[in-house]
Amino acid sequence: MEYDAIVVGGGPAGSVTARFAAESGAKVIILERRSEIGIPVLCGEGISQRIDNWGMLEGKRWIASKMDGAKIFSPDGTMVTLSKEMAGNETGYVVYRDIFDQELARRAAKAGADIILNTEVTELIKKNGKITGIKAREFDEKFEINANIIAGADGVESKIGKWAGINTTLKTNDLETCAQYTLTNVDYNSDYCEFYIGKKISPGGYIWIFPKGENTFNVGIGVLASLSDSRLPLKLLNKFINDNPILKKGEPIRFLAGAVPVSKPIETVKDNLLLVGDAARHADPITGGGLTTSLEGGKIAGETIGKSVEKQSFDKETLSSYETRWKEAFGTKLIRDYIVKEIMLDFDDKTLNMLADSLKDYKFEEFSTLSLVKALVIKHPTLLMKLTPLLKLTDKSLKKA
Ligand SMILES: Cc1cc2nc3c(=O)[nH]c(=O)nc-3n(C[C@H](O)[C@H](O)[C@H](O)COP(=O)(O)OP(=O)(O)OC[C@H]3O[C@@H](n4cnc5c(N)ncnc54)[C@H](O)[C@@H]3O)c2cc1C
Repeated sequence: MEYDAIVVGGGPAGSVTARFAAESGAKVIILERRSEIGIPVLCGEGISQRIDNWGMLEGKRWIASKMDGAKIFSPDGTMVTLSKEMAGNETGYVVYRDIFDQELARRAAKAGADIILNTEVTELIKKNGKITGIKAREFDEKFEINANIIAGADGVESKIGKWAGINTTLKTNDLETCAQYTLTNVDYNSDYCEFYIGKKISPGGYIWIFPKGENTFNVGIGVLASLSDSRLPLKLLNKFINDNPILKKGEPIRFLAGAVPVSKPIETVKDNLLLVGDAARHADPITGGGLTTSLEGGKIAGETIGKSVEKQSFDKETLSSYETRWKEAFGTKLIRDYIVKEIMLDFDDKTLNMLADSLKDYKFEEFSTLSLVKALVIKHPTLLMKLTPLLKLTDKSLKKA
């Protein structure tokens, strides 16, 4: 088999990459090891309503509920409310992630991409130092596919980048280990995503409650792997649910466990290979949300592949416009959020309580750095010292980082 591009992985990043490459005229195939796109779901299913402007999804089948914003609870229960515009990439819609992923794959297929399921890519084929294709396995059958470009969209456990010689190692302090129940029959109404932070609640991470409509909620936890053993996330999540008289009465209809990279992004282009989505470590280092960047990055990757095919030029120079463009689109934000994550890891629960107390009445819609500093420091002057490294972050220093 011969293709212009092979996309390894049929998650959001892979489907969007394949779609935009195919729309630009490239002959593309998606190889997915699962037997059904999007299943099992491994996600809190929160995403920003910014995606409405991107035209990537049609209809409403993939939307479970719409949210008005986010409520963040400090360890002592102080609540800070953010509008959905201020709340970041995970607040806007709660989606049915299986339908969401299948809709993205449908758009890729509509654009002309081929999709093969039950197929695990096991190796890159290299000839004279150049990657010329992949080896794959569909059940017992082994086969090879040749292509000019390989896109690794193989998620957090990505091997494609490593096989190409990219350092993809995730340190334990750059990985959140997660667990989540979908609880139903919960006697609670909310149009807000809720986030609960604190060293005891969830070291180096947070607990989330995302409303899915019809008294159903995703209740999950992410804990930094360096601060946890493999059983801690579930233990803390069970405690949180059991301590909450309303959630405790809910019944689970789904349980999942997974991991999210919260590292800096890595090198994403090597010769004729590129990485997208979680494989590129494009999830937000503070929240672990990776859906919006998978879509944004996938579109850029697909368009870049399309241009390479048009020019019949498959070298690093041509593909590196992918790296330049994603850095412009969201690279600075990822670096900033990585630095903020590192600084916030040193905040104890007392500091988080003081922060929430300072911000609980702050009008985020009138945000300015000066007004924010004032709000923080008027109530709790000791916060100034803790927050100085954050306030020193400038666009210039971030570009250097
Ligand atoms: C518990 C949890 C909660 C989360 N909550 C949110 C949230 O609320 N909002 C948000 O924005 N993000 C969230 N995320 C992160 C989000 O799920 C990821 O950022 C997103 O799935 C990344 O998309 P992707 O296409 O890069 O990778 P994936 O969706 O992981 O897709 C990768 C695909 O590659 C396939 N694959 C892997 N290796 C191979 C191979 N060798 N051959 C063939 N196929 C292969 C896999 O089967 C998979 O289908 C959460 C993650 C977890 C674990």
